Amino acid sequence: MIIWGLRSRNKALGQRQLNCPNCHRDAMTTAFQTRRWFTLFFIPVFPIGAKKTIARCGLCGYQYQVDNTQAESLFGAAAQPAPLP
Ligand SMILES: [Zn+2]
Repeated sequence: MIIWGLRSRNKALGQRQLNCPNCHRDAMTTAFQTRRWFTLFFIPVFPIGAKKTIARCGLCGYQYQVDNTQAESLFGAAAQPAPLP
C-alpha cells in the first residue's frame, strides 16, 4: 500500500515594519514562503506549483501575497540590519 498526499510547507523569511494595506497602520509584518509538496509516506518528495510569499500584518492579521523578488529585498538577508560585532 502506498500512502501519498499533499502538504504545504512554510519557511519564515523575517519580520519588518510595513504599512498594512488593510488597516493602514505601520505594523510588524511577518513574511513566509509557502509551497505545496507531494508527499510519499508523509515525507515531502518534490514541490508542486510555484513558490508564494505571504505577508501577515501583526495588528489585524490580514494576509496578502507579495511578489517573490520584492519579498527578497524586503525580508531577505540583505534587508536585515547587520549584527553588531
Ligand atoms: Zn493590518
